[in-house]
Amino acid sequence: MTTNTLEYLQALEGRCQLSDTEQAQFNQITKGQEGETLLATALDNVPDINYIADLQLGEKYHETQIDFVVLTPQSIFLIENKHYQSSYQFTDGHLYSRNHKRVDNPFLQMHDARECFMHHFPELSHQFKIMSILTFSHPQFSLRGDLSAQGTYFLPNEFHQFKHLFSYGKTPKLLFIKKQILSKNTNLEEKYMTVKRRPLHEVASGIKCPHCKKIILECGTDISSSNYIVCSYCHSSLKKSALIYAALKDLYLIKGEPITSREARHWIGDVGISRHSIYTILKKNFKSKGDKFYIHYFL
Ligand SMILES: [Zn+2]
Repeated sequence: MTTNTLEYLQALEGRCQLSDTEQAQFNQITKGQEGETLLATALDNVPDINYIADLQLGEKYHETQIDFVVLTPQSIFLIENKHYQSSYQFTDGHLYSRNHKRVDNPFLQMHDARECFMHHFPELSHQFKIMSILTFSHPQFSLRGDLSAQGTYFLPNEFHQFKHLFSYGKTPKLLFIKKQILSKNTNLEEKYMTVKRRPLHEVASGIKCPHCKKIILECGTDISSSNYIVCSYCHSSLKKSALIYAALKDLYLIKGEPITSREARHWIGDVGISRHSIYTILKKNFKSKGDKFYIHYFL
């Protein structure tokens, strides 16, 4: 099974007090995603662009994650994005944040990623130039010093140049190559879970309001009267089936293993939701394995 750290932490949210490490991870990942969304938006503005987001290649000693891979007729670009905020300085081969903290040189990471990509796709490295590019996506990022001897990089106000570099990618040949690359895409997230999984008993069970993240203790006595309930904390109107599904998904993510219908019922608890509703949602939305009396559900 695969889970990424962000989904896991989102499942925990509202169900326990996040530790400092968990909260720091949560913030860091959310920030990274913000950056990747900004970059994806810039890429989507390029006509005829052909790219892959978040490529993960796994094999012993040859594992890597690449934020974006852009295919063009002559070159394949491997993009690493950094969403650093505020001003950074580059001196003596090192990058420093405003509070003088030294940051790992992103170009070293990119070098390894490129080697790894070429290991996985040797035939592509004969046909194309494989180029690494570093992008900085935060609008408030600024850089003192010159990084250009290290490699190619783009600041947020230079993203308009992408259209000169990344166009003409939608040829049949390049679309086919994209498929080839994607066929090697794996999920390394579980392996790189950056927080320790908590035991289930440390975590509050039940259905959770997706807006205020509070556990809902009562869905009303007459379950059949309406498909919606109103959160007693933030007064959002919520679809019952979506709430049940989200709660079961949380259970699966937090447990980190397939769940049984009995565990599902215990997790939902006595809030006026019928056994039948829970079973229906498990059957409809989860995959299952095992025989009739011992079925495990997973996503
Ligand atoms: Zn609420």
